[in-house]
Parts: sequence; C-alpha cells; structure tokens
Amino acid sequence: MKCDPALELRSNVVEFRNCGGISSTLMARLHKKCQEHGISAILPFPVEKIIVKNWVNMKCRYGCSKYGTSWCCPPATPEPEKARAILSEYTTALLLTGHRQCADFYLDNCRKRTGMVRYWKGIISTERLLFLEGYYKAFALVSGVCSLCKKCAYPDPCRFPQEKRPMIESFSIDVIGTLRNLGATSHVAVNTGEAFNYHGIILLE
Ligand code: SF4
Repeated sequence: MKCDPALELRSNVVEFRNCGGISSTLMARLHKKCQEHGISAILPFPVEKIIVKNWVNMKCRYGCSKYGTSWCCPPATPEPEKARAILSEYTTALLLTGHRQCADFYLDNCRKRTGMVRYWKGIISTERLLFLEGYYKAFALVSGVCSLCKKCAYPDPCRFPQEKRPMIESFSIDVIGTLRNLGATSHVAVNTGEAFNYHGIILLE
C-alpha cells in the first residue's frame, strides 16, 4: 500500500505491521525482556479466542476483597459491554505466562510484592517495546491487582498513571475458558506446594 506523502516526509514514522505476524528478531527481543521479568512464555493468538462473560464481573463484585479498592479493578474498569467493544477493535494479541510458588499467593509480604511489581513492570515495558516497534495500539491487561503502591490510592488519583492498566479479569475475561480455547493448560493449583501460572495479555493490533 502506498504511504501518504506527508507521512513519508517524517523520518521517525515507524512502519505499521498488520497481520503479517511478528518477526523472529522481535520475538527474540520480547522473550529476552520477558525473561528478565519472570515471564517464561509468549503466545501470539487471535483476539476472537478471548471469552468475555458477565459472570466474571459478578465474581469481582461479589466475593473479591479487591472490589472497589484499586484503579485496576471494577468498578474503575470497563463494564462487560464496553470491554467487548474495546476487544472488537483488535484482531491479534499476545498471551504472556509466568509461574510462581503457590505459598506466596497467601502472603502479604515484601517478597510477594517484589515479584508482582517485577512482573507488572515487565508487561508494561513489553507493551512499550511493541509500541516503539510500530504496534501503536498495543495495550496490556495484567494479571493480579496492581502492587506498584503498597496501598492503592483509589479513589484518589493514581500515583503512577503511566503504568496503570486493568487486570485481565476486570475486563470480564474468562481466563480459564480462554486458555482452554487456546489449547493451553488451565490447571488450578489446589495446594501451597504447587506452582501456579499467571497470565497477561497484550492487545496488539
Ligand atoms: S500505581 Fe498505585 S495508585 Fe495507581 S493503580 Fe497501581 S497501586 Fe493504585
């Protein structure tokens, strides 16, 4: 497709890549960045495989202690209909997966928070890398509530708005159903001796 001449004059315009796929060079850079942040696997997939269900929002509203306590959780995040509309503007996404020991899940200590912050920053910096590579619509949905602050400022203004992103579940995404849809493992850890997987999604284009 011929570019707009006005755009051709701007030497800093990054070429937009559509469904041609991610180059192996870029994928290698993504893997390196992700590994530095405890993310061990990256899977490109079609956004149509994401399952959005109203019951996920219900589970946030009833039964989750984080409801109404974070900028990354309902009711601060989009309602299911809005989430569906946003997702419909994308065709491709990346699934990012890491592991953590289940024992940490039940703790509220420095080690757990350090791991969560490391992971959070990894997802955001990967989104940034993709943006700079020309995927200008890149937007991350993160696993686990934002831990950048010891206690979220909500409902006062976020202290790090550039790093604020919604949790995957806050978009009413059925994570286990979506993983099954992708043919990925969806084992739920049931005792503290097990490791559990955590997942982030970067909406790409
Ligand atoms: S950066 Fe701080 S204030 Fe903003 S969403 Fe995260 S925890 Fe809340």
